[in-house]
Amino acid sequence: MRRRNPLSATLAERTDAGLRAGAFGHATSLSCRECGHQVALGPHYACPECFGPLEVAYDYPAVTREEIEAGPSNMWRYKALLPVPSDIEDSPNTEPGFTRLLEARNLAAELGLTRLWVKDDSTNPTNSFKDRVVACALSAARELGSKVFACPSTGNLANAVAAAGARAGIKTVVFIPSNLEKPKQVNSAVYTDKLVAVEGNYDDVNKLASEIAGEEEGWAFVNVNVRPYYAEGSKTLGYEIAEQLGWRLPDQVVIPVASGAQLTKVDKAFQELISLGLVEEKPYKVYGAQATGCSPVATAFKADTDAIRPVKPDTIAKSLAIGNPADGIYVLDICRRTGGAVEDVSDEEVREGILLLARTEGIFTETAGGTTVGVLRKLVESGRLDPTLETVVINTGMGLKTLDAVADRVGPAATIDPTYAAFTATGLAD
Ligand SMILES: *Cc1c(COP(=O)(O)O)cnc(C)c1O
Ligand SMILES: [Zn+2]
Repeated sequence: MRRRNPLSATLAERTDAGLRAGAFGHATSLSCRECGHQVALGPHYACPECFGPLEVAYDYPAVTREEIEAGPSNMWRYKALLPVPSDIEDSPNTEPGFTRLLEARNLAAELGLTRLWVKDDSTNPTNSFKDRVVACALSAARELGSKVFACPSTGNLANAVAAAGARAGIKTVVFIPSNLEKPKQVNSAVYTDKLVAVEGNYDDVNKLASEIAGEEEGWAFVNVNVRPYYAEGSKTLGYEIAEQLGWRLPDQVVIPVASGAQLTKVDKAFQELISLGLVEEKPYKVYGAQATGCSPVATAFKADTDAIRPVKPDTIAKSLAIGNPADGIYVLDICRRTGGAVEDVSDEEVREGILLLARTEGIFTETAGGTTVGVLRKLVESGRLDPTLETVVINTGMGLKTLDAVADRVGPAATIDPTYAAFTATGLAD
């Protein structure tokens, strides 16, 4: 089976009853990524012909830079390119996106890069990029008339779903592995009293969610049965990077990989911007980052195979700990097509990555960002990332959620009596 990118799909009939006109904006259908079969917009995620994943297809409107720039300072400035209605801002949502793109001069100097930027998604409403995808999923759930908003999660997704569900006033149930970091549990439980801790790893939780989605009517599992809409939210990361660089694409971008959805959608965003004439066409390289303790995609990349062998995750980078990544195959495609790579780093390198970003740029990232920065460093040191080209690294999450990762590595330089003499004795005044 070959994959194709259904950038321009024919208009498909909207056969699903009860959808209001424009419920999904300029989206026309769901298109199979494997065989191209088209399905009407609805709560579908697998191709009825070949079980391949479905992706939202559009009849793209002519949208200009000026129209986008006149939009709100959140991801809805790109609503014309998302499967959401034109009045999306009127429905309560967490209004994520349009996070800062910081030029990272200190980190660039440290690594020997000419120009480097950090796309900092730790400043989203629940401090990870997941608020973007959840905002699109919430819109879909609402338009489909879902009664329950739910997800299986490695942590950040549960935070984003719980917060968005609270704000939308919809019943929200989130499922997490019971061994999840305490801060991520609390960050969900403050928003919902329906947090379910499952004895098992993420892949077990995901399987349970699929079963519930099949049994219960009206449940919108953001990353299961409304996944096609959900995943589109990650495109906004790509749009923003291009807009914030002055409407041009970077030469290289380094992106963490769990399911792989984010990486594939940043590439889709770049392709859309080119075909819509919003940026000039140019080559760019996409790099994927994994933690060695859960690196099925990096392993397949290095073995030069399409066969991704599922693994049992064992890493501190829990937000990336998906052992059987749904979009792994597409990540391989994109990284190979663009001349990038998929690389992995050890948990120790993840910790070093967290500290490196914090000490050079004042950005406290979680383990996913430590993974991405660690991989960036490894790619530069091994000569596979060109230091003279413009590079963007995506920070997808917030360090306060994974304090334990570095808590033993940092702390007071000295503990002293409250006297001047005691202070000078530390040598810190010199
Ligand atoms: C979920 C997550 C990712 C990976 O997203 P995928 O689209 O599943 O690859 C990366 N970083 C953080 C912080 C996440 O929570
Ligand atoms: Zn198909």
